[in-house]
Amino acid sequence: MADCIFCRIARGEAAAEIVYQDEQIIAFRDIQPKAAVHLLVIPRKHIENLYDLGKDDQQLMAHLMLSLPRIAKQQGLDAGFRTITNTGHGGGQEVWHMHFHLMAGDIPAMQ
Ligand code: 5GP
Ligand code: ZN
Repeated sequence: MADCIFCRIARGEAAAEIVYQDEQIIAFRDIQPKAAVHLLVIPRKHIENLYDLGKDDQQLMAHLMLSLPRIAKQQGLDAGFRTITNTGHGGGQEVWHMHFHLMAGDIPAMQ
């Protein structure tokens, strides 16, 4: 996806404050943080959202989910964190490249 902003970040074509990356995923700071720590964790592969996942994505999703607590620990979030993923217009999704918000510290109330 040439013009997807998160694909561009994953390819190193757009700037982001990356805190973790490996061959499958990247974690970077949200440009408009809504908590003291507000990261976005994404697959390098362009997947629109949870509805767009296929059977081939099982290992990727396991890796992404297992990485969330590791990244949180790296950030010193020993007391815990919140993950949110918005799916589709009905879920309030604004960027159409699947991402998990990882937040801690002054986290906003659930709506
Ligand atoms: P959504 O509403 O799709 O779940 O969340 C999209 C998130 O991406 C928002 O929290 C927004 O601040 C963040 N965001 C949008 N564009 C950029 C960008 O170019 N760089 C970074 N780091 N975050 C972005
Ligand atoms: Zn993308």
